[in-house]
Amino acid sequence: MIVYYSVPEEKSCQFDPRGLRAISSTDRMLSLSDRRPPVRPADIDSYGSQGWQEDLRDAFRDPYELCEHLGLPQEVADSAAAEEFQLLAPRPFVARMRHGDASDPLLLQVLPRRDERLDAQLPIDAVGDLPAQRADGLIHKYSGRALLMVSGHCAVNCRYCFRRHFPYGSLPQGDAAWLPALDQIRRDTSLREVILSGGDPLVIGDDRFCRLVSQLSAIPHLQSLRIHTRLPVVIPKRITEQLIQTLTDSRLQAVIVLHINHANEIDDSVADAVGRLRSTTAIVLNQSVLLRGINDSVPALVELSEQIIKVGALPYYLHQLDMVPGVTHFEADRAVGQKLIAELRKRLPGYAVPRFVVEEAGEPHKTLLA
Ligand SMILES: *Cc1c(COP(=O)(O)O)cnc(C)c1O
Ligand code: SF4
Repeated sequence: MIVYYSVPEEKSCQFDPRGLRAISSTDRMLSLSDRRPPVRPADIDSYGSQGWQEDLRDAFRDPYELCEHLGLPQEVADSAAAEEFQLLAPRPFVARMRHGDASDPLLLQVLPRRDERLDAQLPIDAVGDLPAQRADGLIHKYSGRALLMVSGHCAVNCRYCFRRHFPYGSLPQGDAAWLPALDQIRRDTSLREVILSGGDPLVIGDDRFCRLVSQLSAIPHLQSLRIHTRLPVVIPKRITEQLIQTLTDSRLQAVIVLHINHANEIDDSVADAVGRLRSTTAIVLNQSVLLRGINDSVPALVELSEQIIKVGALPYYLHQLDMVPGVTHFEADRAVGQKLIAELRKRLPGYAVPRFVVEEAGEPHKTLLA
């Protein structure tokens, strides 16, 4: 058995010491007294000029502009909902929406609507993430694996997101932001896997991503590196040569978990991106959220699974919606989800049926519903 204890030295991929600073005791961990500031264009200015970064800069941020682009009346969007949680929809994703259809399953995932303001009394931290923080941005709930919030930004703002209220704005910036989490991961030898999440871990540039992966690869007790991302779907160009090289060079087993909720999200460019990911030794999986009016039907879920298999990924989880203010109109009954899964089992190969789960605060794993 070969055991690799250090990563090959690679100049372009070394942790950036210029960003290092002492982490003072006044640096706070995430807390819900912070509000997530809207993503302003200025935040995007620091992004480089690779094609995918331009797509991120050019994404729709104005709901009325998006409506106009799709030939829809302005009234289908709601500006107050957009103020609460900004619209962010990259053009490659918008290109897969149907013109003139206000019920398009992709549009409904991103368009701020009036329905969002009806349920403000729910708790904001639905799944107990904040008490499970072990270091800034490091959430350790389950045995052997911890989740690192790599970035506070996403490439798309999903209206149903349980982290839509998360105080990402309070996450420190730069490579130095990861130091306390990396220290904690080094200290905790029970960890086997680090899950890069966010925000979206792939919104950071290739050099920073490479530096993070090489830091993690050098931690001997880690075996795998999981990446939860929506970028291969919303901006397929994000899967660059350098990213593929980083994944290929790491000694860690990569597990990429895509996030696709509807078959219409998958086109040839997405198939290509997944193909590039599969050209590494990565395992590619998909997770979805059960969303009323978007994918809560047998045909929608069958087609979704079939398309996921077609691009060479496997359905992993179908999540029951995590309830936070602004999302309840997307909720489907658990019983509906259970029936849907029972129907999928009759129609699809076993490997094409996702596990229907819900996250319950304080439990040692996600709760299996079907
Ligand atoms: C969902 C989740 C995981 C991963 O759980 P798996 O069942 O292994 O996919 C890990 N950490 C946190 C905090 C999570 O929410
Ligand atoms: S990409 Fe993920 S974290 Fe970001 S808004 Fe969508 S569901 Fe939430």
